Amino acid sequence: MTKIPMKNKIVEMDGDEMTRILWQMIKDELLIPFVELNTEYYDLGLKYRDETNDQVTFDAGEAIKKYHVGVKCATITPNAQRVEEYNLKEMWKSPNGTIRAILDGTVFRAPVLVNGINPAVKNWKKPITIARHAYGDVYKATEIRNEKKGKAELVFTSEDGEVTRQTIYDFECGGVIQGQYNKDSSIESFAHSCFTYALDTKQDLWFATKDTISKKYDQTFKLTFQDIFEKEYKAKFEEAGIEYFYTLIDDAVARVIRSEGGYIWACKNYDGDVMSDMVSTAFGSLAMMTSVLVSPDGNFEYEAAHGTVTRHYYRYLKGEETSTNPVATIFAWTGALRKRGELDGETALMEFADKLEKACIDTIEGGTLTKDLAGLWEGATPTVVNSKDFILAIRKTLEAML
Ligand code: NAP
Ligand code: MG
Repeated sequence: MTKIPMKNKIVEMDGDEMTRILWQMIKDELLIPFVELNTEYYDLGLKYRDETNDQVTFDAGEAIKKYHVGVKCATITPNAQRVEEYNLKEMWKSPNGTIRAILDGTVFRAPVLVNGINPAVKNWKKPITIARHAYGDVYKATEIRNEKKGKAELVFTSEDGEVTRQTIYDFECGGVIQGQYNKDSSIESFAHSCFTYALDTKQDLWFATKDTISKKYDQTFKLTFQDIFEKEYKAKFEEAGIEYFYTLIDDAVARVIRSEGGYIWACKNYDGDVMSDMVSTAFGSLAMMTSVLVSPDGNFEYEAAHGTVTRHYYRYLKGEETSTNPVATIFAWTGALRKRGELDGETALMEFADKLEKACIDTIEGGTLTKDLAGLWEGATPTVVNSKDFILAIRKTLEAML
C-alpha cells in the first residue's frame, strides 16, 4: 500500500505518563503505516521542559503560528508533589496556559458519540460543543473579606488622571467584596474564534450571558458578539446555512437540556467551566472528549480533554495491565490531519482522518472497548481489552475499510 502524502508539517507535541505511552502506540499502529507523517516534533514531556527551562513549550507555540496546525499529548502541570517527583528546577507553568497565551483563542470541547453509550439527557442525539472564554472574570478577580463596617467603592483612575468612583455597598457588618475585569481585546478574539469555528464546522452558534442583570459587564460581551457578527460574519453564516443565536444564560440552560444537540455553545469563563463538566459527564466519559484551541487568526491546536491519566501510568510502571482509552487522543490526531488536509487541499488526508474516526466508533459499536466505557455500555456483553489490544482492534477495522 502506498502511504498518503503530507505536503506540509503539523506541530507534534509529545507529553507525559500514560498518554505518552498511548501517543507512541497510536503513531506506530494507526498513523505511520498509512500516512507519510510529516511533523515537527517538540517534546513537552516534563523532563525535557525542565531541561530546556520550558523553552520547548514556547518554541512549540511559535511553531503552531508558523504551520497553523498542532496536535498535543496531555502534559503534567507541575505542583509541589511533581517538583519533588521529577526533581524540577522550578514549578513550570501549565503548557496549555503558555500555548494559549502565545496563540490567544478559545478552547472548544466536544464529545465523541457512539451507539451503545447513551447520554444521560435522553433527547441529546448530536454532540454539544462548549466554547469557553478562558480569560479574566472571576479567575482574575481581586477579593476582600471585610470584618468591620465600612464603605466599599469601585474606583477607576484613567491614565490621564480622571477618576470614576462608585459606591458598591455601605457595610453595616462584615462581608465580602470582589472586583472582576475583562478586556475588549480578549472578548473580541473570543467572538472571532467562535464565529470562525462555527463556520469551520457548519454548526449553529449559541451565546448567553446575564446582560439583564449585568448591564455593563455582560452587556459588553453581548454587544461585542452582535457587532462583530453583523459586520463580519452575517453573510457568511447565511451562505453556510447556520445561525447565530443569543439568549440569557438561564434560558440557554433550559434550551440546551430540551435540545437534540448539534451546535456550539459559547460560554463566559465561569459558565464554561461549570457547563463543560456538566455536558461532558452527561455525554459519558472524559476519555471521549475532544478539545481544540482555535486562535482568532486561524491557528488550530488539537488535544484530548483529559489529562495524563496518572493512576493508570503508575499501574503500568508496576507492570500491571491498563485499559486506558485512547479515543480522544486519536481524535486529536485526526482533527489535526483533517485540518492539514483541508488547508493544503489534500483530500486523501481528510478521508483518512474520517476513516480512522469511523474505525474507532465501529470498533466500540462492535463491542470491543476499554474499561472506562464498559460501565456505560448498554449493548450486548462487550469485550473489554487493554489499551494495546484496543488500538490493534481499531487498526484491524481501519485496514478493512482502506
Ligand atoms: P486525568 O488524567 O484526566 O484522569 C482522571 C481520571 O479520569 C483517571 O484516573 C481515570 O479514572 C479517568 N480517565 C481520564 N482519561 C481517561 C482515559 N483516556 N481512559 C480511561 N480513563 C480515563 O486527570 P488527573 O488525574 O486529575 O490529572 C493527571 C495529570 O494530568 C496531572 O498532572 C494534570 O496536571 C494533567 N492534566 C493535563 C491536562 C492537559 O494536558 N490538557 C488536562 C488535565 C490534567 P480511573 O482512574 O477511575 O480509571
Ligand atoms: Mg472545571
